[in-house]
Amino acid sequence: MPFLYGATLPEILLIVLASVVVMFAQSRVQGAYQKFSRMAANTRYTGADVARMILRRQGIDNVEVVMGQGVLSDHYNPKTKVVSLSPAIFNTNSIAAVSVAAHEVGHAIQHAHGYAFLAVRNTLLPLTVVAGNLAWGVILLGLFISPQIMWIGIAMLGVVAVFQTVTLPIEFNASKRALNLLVDEGILSYDEQSYAKQMLSAAALTYVAALLATLFQILRLVLMNNRRR
Ligand SMILES: [Zn+2]
Repeated sequence: MPFLYGATLPEILLIVLASVVVMFAQSRVQGAYQKFSRMAANTRYTGADVARMILRRQGIDNVEVVMGQGVLSDHYNPKTKVVSLSPAIFNTNSIAAVSVAAHEVGHAIQHAHGYAFLAVRNTLLPLTVVAGNLAWGVILLGLFISPQIMWIGIAMLGVVAVFQTVTLPIEFNASKRALNLLVDEGILSYDEQSYAKQMLSAAALTYVAALLATLFQILRLVLMNNRRR
């Protein structure tokens, strides 16, 4: 844990909170995934079938659905217009599989409909990657050289926080679309929809936790830098 030397109690609490919220959210999403990947949906469609079916019914014919690697690595890439589903999601008909597949297609639909937050997010992405990669290095440099440099590093974390904030409505909106589509298309019953909702809410929580962790870190760095003057 960097920069703990001489930290005050509130600063230490903020550092602990930043780790705890992330660990809590991770355990929640893994728990939900464990539970709902073992629960078969009352449909024979796999995640891949569901994704392709929804895209077709939405009249989106330029998005490809492919099998990726790993666990919970599912995503939609707006640059290549590819929905990438992890093997367990791609190949099975579990509640987890159909809900995650529908969620990722939700992002493809947002993209096709020109959903505003998605455009903002994609504009912020390159800047956020640079800021995110450099922030801690600049903060460390600031710690040795001057508080002014440290403020620059903190501002870079601020850019990350803005990006994470814009991500939230995108994630919630994709899940909302997914849950409605799964029932509208007759893929899930209302009972099953509540399970799918639990799965997708747990996944969304990781984005909330990531934002909170960044905000806690920013706050404790601000406290720390103010103390130095
Ligand atoms: Zn998402």
